[in-house]
Amino acid sequence: MNPALFLDRDGVIIENNPNYIRSWSDVKIFPEAIRALRRIQNSSYKIAIITNQSAVGRGLVSFETICEINTRLIDEIQSHGGRIDGVFICPHAPEDGCTCRKPKPGLILQAAQDLSIDLKQSILIGDALSDLIAGQVAGIPTNVLILTGRGKEQATMLTADQKKSILIFESLAEALEALV
Ligand SMILES: [Zn+2]
Repeated sequence: MNPALFLDRDGVIIENNPNYIRSWSDVKIFPEAIRALRRIQNSSYKIAIITNQSAVGRGLVSFETICEINTRLIDEIQSHGGRIDGVFICPHAPEDGCTCRKPKPGLILQAAQDLSIDLKQSILIGDALSDLIAGQVAGIPTNVLILTGRGKEQATMLTADQKKSILIFESLAEALEALV
């Protein structure tokens, strides 16, 4: 059983896009996120991307294209010395009522099974409350909100209880520096 680092994609590794990431030309990588992933590549953590891609369910982009974008992103991370062990995608629209769209924990539980992950030793990093709730429901003890992407806006919506149960860092790089 391995500890894992669960990373949201949009707003964490690449810039969030309110009109959805539909092609590689929409992808704007955070350079410091890539450098931070290189720094931790020898750690014992499995590194899994967990991402809601409702643009598929909304009919805006094919699942195949989403997978191609992810493959290219992983190639980019690897060419800079980093590592991603798995990508887990929810392709559904909110109204589909699936069990994998965050804040549901389905993607995390799937990753835990596929990569032999010990959730109790794991860390989740996201820019939205839906990420953190999914992590908490899945039993991950360390759930981090970062202030890139939608994070700044989401931070204003935290309840008092949520503020006590999560950590906040400026960016993926700062969170990884402190925790891994
Ligand atoms: Zn889903």
